[in-house]
Amino acid sequence: MNTVGIVGAGRMGSGIAQVMAQAGYDVILFDISNETLQRALENIRRHLERAIELGAIKREQMQSILTRIHPTTKLKHFITADIVFEAVIEDIDVKCKIFRELDDRCAPATILATNTSSMSVTKIASATENPYRVIGTHFFNPPYILKLVEVVRTQHTSDEVVEKTVEFLKGIGHSPVVVKDSPGFIVNRISRHFYLEPLRAYEIGLAEIEEIDRAFKLLGLELGPFEVIDYVGLDVNYIVSKSIYERFNYEERFRPVAFQAWLVEAGLLGRKTNSGFYSYFGKDKKVQDFLKREKIKYKFSKKFLNLADTICRKILSRKDELNEPQKIVLALTISMIINEGFYALMENLASKEDINSAFRLVKFPAGPFELAEQIGLKNVFNFLNLAREELMADRYKPALLLARKFE
Ligand code: NAD
Repeated sequence: MNTVGIVGAGRMGSGIAQVMAQAGYDVILFDISNETLQRALENIRRHLERAIELGAIKREQMQSILTRIHPTTKLKHFITADIVFEAVIEDIDVKCKIFRELDDRCAPATILATNTSSMSVTKIASATENPYRVIGTHFFNPPYILKLVEVVRTQHTSDEVVEKTVEFLKGIGHSPVVVKDSPGFIVNRISRHFYLEPLRAYEIGLAEIEEIDRAFKLLGLELGPFEVIDYVGLDVNYIVSKSIYERFNYEERFRPVAFQAWLVEAGLLGRKTNSGFYSYFGKDKKVQDFLKREKIKYKFSKKFLNLADTICRKILSRKDELNEPQKIVLALTISMIINEGFYALMENLASKEDINSAFRLVKFPAGPFELAEQIGLKNVFNFLNLAREELMADRYKPALLLARKFE
């Protein structure tokens, strides 16, 4: 392969273009507007300047990397592309239309890959005449730092296309993990609970935003769940949750939290608007005043509280101090992540090893099954059952594959 085509020069498209050009490929970068293309090139230059400062590349390399990227507003130039990565807005109709056009214009051997986070790759493939050459390559943000790529195969994708894509991604220094086409693939699906459980805990007055974020950072994460949502965008995070919920036929455990939608309606989108769960106007960020509230002191059984404490002690260092609500939120979230891992395994989404490795590659301290081993599966199973009763919520029902190990 020599030439890579990229459709969409936004956040992800420009990041993928940078990765490909740095790996030595000629890149044809397409977008509908010239201004977007210019902005993309400026952003890439800025990231490369930063890479020079960090010693990752030499200054002499920067110009040749930039000259390998050819911006265009005409798809006809894609005739020379060996592989095309699509990274336009998350809209199924727009994506299907682009794939039909790519299928028409590209050479027969060209691989057509979509970077969709939450749409059906199968549906996109089915819009073309040659669905065997359509595949999902889900890069993570920013793609020049995070090496994981979920390679999504549909029932149409040919083995040859999967193999070539995996080899190509390994060749540029990324870490592909093959996954079946299914809502949210591995990471976005299993990590949904990293967002939904904290949001619900705040919604019911169990814990405050800042104390939840603090608890999660003790796990070794750079940001807590509310900080991550602010970083990604409340709107983007909500759309992914909603799409996964809908595509799982309104499965209760994926139900998005309504107040997040109300914040989006109010224009509180996170860092990009300087206001999300936190306000970013001052020198230091602080939780928005209107999101501060009195906590509710719920009465839980001793058994439930002791188990939450045990789970936290198994995954944190002994010195870490947590209050009761922090322990509960952490234990609920981690248990739901493990439970979702079992649902994914049950559905043959990917292997245990690949699921664990995908989590570590996006800088989660451990994968779901590694966490389960640390905590003890029986503890997780018992805690989920207790949570189901104490919080009167069916979403905590253990996955069959997990339950049958004990019942
Ligand atoms: P973005 O809004 O930054 O960029 C989208 C780009 O698509 C814009 O430059 C826009 O001009 C262009 N575009 C719109 N319609 C087009 C068309 N008809 N033809 C060509 N270009 C068109 O979005 P993004 O965050 O880069 O996301 C792009 C894709 O990557 C989405 O599918 C998203 O789900 C996925 N993704 C995003 C992230 C993330 O964290 N942002 C992570 C992984 C995957």
